[in-house]
Amino acid sequence: MGTTPLPADAHVHTEWSWDAPGGSMLRSCARAAELGLPSISFTEHFDLTRWVIPDQTQEQMQRAPHLVGGDGRFNPPAFDVAGYLDELDRCRTRFPDLRIMTGVELGEPHWFDEEVSALLATDAFERVLGSLHSISHEGEHHIVDDLDAATNPADPEPEDVVRRYLAEALSMVQRCDRFSVLAHLDYPARGWPPRLGPFPIDRFEEELRAVLAALAASDRALEINTRLPMDPRLVDWWCQAGGKRVTFGSDAHEPGLVAHGFADAAAMAVQLGFTQVADDHAWRR
Ligand SMILES: [Zn+2]
Ligand SMILES: [Zn+2]
Repeated sequence: MGTTPLPADAHVHTEWSWDAPGGSMLRSCARAAELGLPSISFTEHFDLTRWVIPDQTQEQMQRAPHLVGGDGRFNPPAFDVAGYLDELDRCRTRFPDLRIMTGVELGEPHWFDEEVSALLATDAFERVLGSLHSISHEGEHHIVDDLDAATNPADPEPEDVVRRYLAEALSMVQRCDRFSVLAHLDYPARGWPPRLGPFPIDRFEEELRAVLAALAASDRALEINTRLPMDPRLVDWWCQAGGKRVTFGSDAHEPGLVAHGFADAAAMAVQLGFTQVADDHAWRR
């Protein structure tokens, strides 16, 4: 490892997220302390979108029947905020030297203004991420985890799905000011079909730059999500759009993945002129 310090992990899930059965807030704190991270933020899912469960994930979803509605759509479970905050307090007591931040990952917050407002009115959350996981098509919502399965047969092309995703991401940034960090703008790269080769980010440069410009204009931060190594071109376009801050998020759903890929991500950010700022989870340029 080089001399670049590891950044704060500003995007971690634990047992309080519906899709993290292997999560543990306590053990994630232990891991963050072991790595010497400046802080860790527990940004659990706040999801309300009832996306159509793709055929490919039917079997996997049936193992968690409470997640499947009778209509074949995803049944998002409620986020137990009180239980989450109690556990976070216990962790702060157990790890007094670790900076532990509250947070939430809002899924498609521009579609649920009322519910998001009610959640944030509690003032419980220090880190608020905005995330797009789904797109809307002919009145239905489709998760874009797997671009071969994301939409109905009328619109099967992965490249079209990515364009729809980025148009929706732009709309989310423009219409919703409830979040301060845009999470995983490269989310569709996770579901890009391997049969089509590496994710062709340059084909989406114009759409990505439009989202980045809107985000920079509203003085928010871009997350470098390390679930996949982020393409440096995306962060470079962020700088060119006038973006001043980046955060780092492992998007870990289990303790062993806290700060996964951070050494490389931090080195890339340094290359692009970002530096760590004391007492801030965001790096600046
Ligand atoms: Zn997410
Ligand atoms: Zn996440």
